[in-house]
Amino acid sequence: MGGSFERLPAAVRKQLDKLGLHSVFDLVLHLPLRYEDETRITALRDARAGETVQIEAVVEASEVVFRPRRLLLCRARSGGEALTLRFFHFYPSQLKQLAPGVRLRAVGEVRPGFFGAEMIHPRYRVVRADTPLPQALTPIYPTTAGLAQHVLRKAVTDALAEADLGDPLPPALLRALGLPDFERSLRLLHQPPPDVSAEALQLRSHPAWRRIKFDELLAQQLSMRLHHRRRQSTRAHALAPPGALTGTFLENLAFSLTDAQRRCLEEIRADLALAHPMQRLLQGDVGSGKTVVAALAALQAVESGTQVAVMAPTEILAEQHHAKFAAWLAPLNVSVAWLSGSQSRKDKRAQVARIESGEAQVVVGTHALFQEQVAFRRLALAIVDEQHRFGVHQRLALRQKGTDEEGTMQPHQLMMSATPIPRTLAMTFFADLDVSVIDELPPGRTPVVTKLVSDARRDEVLARVRDACMEGRQAYWVCPLIEESEALQLQTAMDTYETLRTAFPDLAVGLVHGRLPAADKGAVMAQFASGALQLLVATTVIEVGVDVPNASLMVIEHAERMGLSQMHQLRGRVGRGAAASVCILLFQNPLSDNARERLRIMYEHTDGFEIARHDLRIRGPGELLGARQSGVPMLRFADLETDADLVEAARDAAARMLRDHPQAAQLHLRRWMGARQEYLRV
Ligand code: ADP
Ligand code: MG
Repeated sequence: MGGSFERLPAAVRKQLDKLGLHSVFDLVLHLPLRYEDETRITALRDARAGETVQIEAVVEASEVVFRPRRLLLCRARSGGEALTLRFFHFYPSQLKQLAPGVRLRAVGEVRPGFFGAEMIHPRYRVVRADTPLPQALTPIYPTTAGLAQHVLRKAVTDALAEADLGDPLPPALLRALGLPDFERSLRLLHQPPPDVSAEALQLRSHPAWRRIKFDELLAQQLSMRLHHRRRQSTRAHALAPPGALTGTFLENLAFSLTDAQRRCLEEIRADLALAHPMQRLLQGDVGSGKTVVAALAALQAVESGTQVAVMAPTEILAEQHHAKFAAWLAPLNVSVAWLSGSQSRKDKRAQVARIESGEAQVVVGTHALFQEQVAFRRLALAIVDEQHRFGVHQRLALRQKGTDEEGTMQPHQLMMSATPIPRTLAMTFFADLDVSVIDELPPGRTPVVTKLVSDARRDEVLARVRDACMEGRQAYWVCPLIEESEALQLQTAMDTYETLRTAFPDLAVGLVHGRLPAADKGAVMAQFASGALQLLVATTVIEVGVDVPNASLMVIEHAERMGLSQMHQLRGRVGRGAAASVCILLFQNPLSDNARERLRIMYEHTDGFEIARHDLRIRGPGELLGARQSGVPMLRFADLETDADLVEAARDAAARMLRDHPQAAQLHLRRWMGARQEYLRV
């Protein structure tokens, strides 16, 4: 679309760019944050404290004074009463502009002052007595430094005049959903008449807002469905059914799979046999046994003569997977390679060579796996553990690794997560993901009992830790999260370690933290796993995946600082063996309301699904998706909690539109996507 957008001055275009506004339609969809009412003029004596009003006044005198700092003082009269306007930031030209006799309309709060009524730094404009009042509320748009509201407002108004605002949605659909016309909705939101309910606008419950939110969700659903279709036209290695190696693996395994594990494995196997890339999430609460299912999927790829990449978000977890995969697969003569960021250059080169030659059949590692210089020979399956911890881009990069030159071949993807996806999220951001759920824990587990203990009772907690270790069990002591400073967090961990070592001279105490060299980290974890260490002081590096079944007590310090999913993950490190396990959440008073609620939820729930539901409510979907830092746009207008009904409606509508009105669907998508390629998908 040409026209007004291209005619904007370069400086303005640059500012709009920062706001992500690149086209006329982007401007049309740039909706106000709130409104100000300039449709009425309030008499000075009727202005109430705390209320924003518009006052008309005539200037009597203006001067720049220094009391105590430089300010522009403008004395005026409004309806026979005195009114003083004070400006703290001003241009020299403003002093000239506010000359005696000039008529102003000023918007702001009126306060009683020493010399009568005052307005502090009001927004104002110079008018004539017969200048008409605006007919609509004045929109206040989200903006960026240096881009004035009136410039943005004009750009939006021009865009509204120029854009084709024809409604692409079938009238029958709109009638069925009770949604208003597109153009009318937009105009109402950009220029609401003064009689529109301010509350309905602010709460975004007005039908016009609902229409826009529906359209946004519809665009997202359309994008997902189209992506799904594209995936169906992409090829992947169709893997042979499991063979002799799998049989041996299962015979060697110390336990038998749970029914839930077996069912999930069947679902994965059916996907892997297809010539289209699998995109499946294996979901199961912490400790439900996802790793062995992943290993069996990997084995199927190996049996078909292809390679597998297994990626984990932390060194500790990656190393643990490497140890497990090697222990399971080496007896079957399957070669397992290892790649991590902290490897020596020489070692890494050797591993990369094994990967390139195809000699390495399974490659376990951290994000080092998707670095440029790693080229797989025949990658057919990418397994991503704790998928929500990776950015979307990182996952895409790993997928690229298995893409052939023509770009038509992609690896199957198996993602694993202990964070269950609430229903509305599953229908939106994860709409293109198939999900298998391990909804059963291995037998013999005992639920973890959670206790909330104030830091004032620390001594009792210490006694309890000692008793547990003396009885031959093992314990974790998790140091507080200090978000502001990694150095401080490290220091705290070392201090805690010293304190606990002194407190328990007869116990073997270890320390593990993120700054420890990988080899040392691995050594400490191995000592703890073997039982040589009884108490492990740790930072939150043990949050994911770490598996030591004999550990049955966990103390989390300053639990009030931690997020729900983090605490749930940490707590999942215990309760993995036969002994009854306890997790003590030590907290420091006073508690914020939010922290109190998080602790209550942890106390009341052990089910990861319930916890995730609360987490979504408290924090919004960004964190759950692992998309916060990925830069991929999320929903701007719709809210998955309050607009759940619209999510369902949009899902149905997307299917019907692609079937019955494909061109309208394309138009709708183009408008909403603008320059973007696709909505976030995982
Ligand atoms: P998560 O789902 O949290 O990744 P893991 O895969 O680490 O869980 O498994 C947790 C523990 O349970 C491991 O020690 C694993 O060997 C064990 N495990 C897995 N499946 C079973 C099973 N069917 N029976 C008994 N133990 C199992
Ligand atoms: Mg795991």
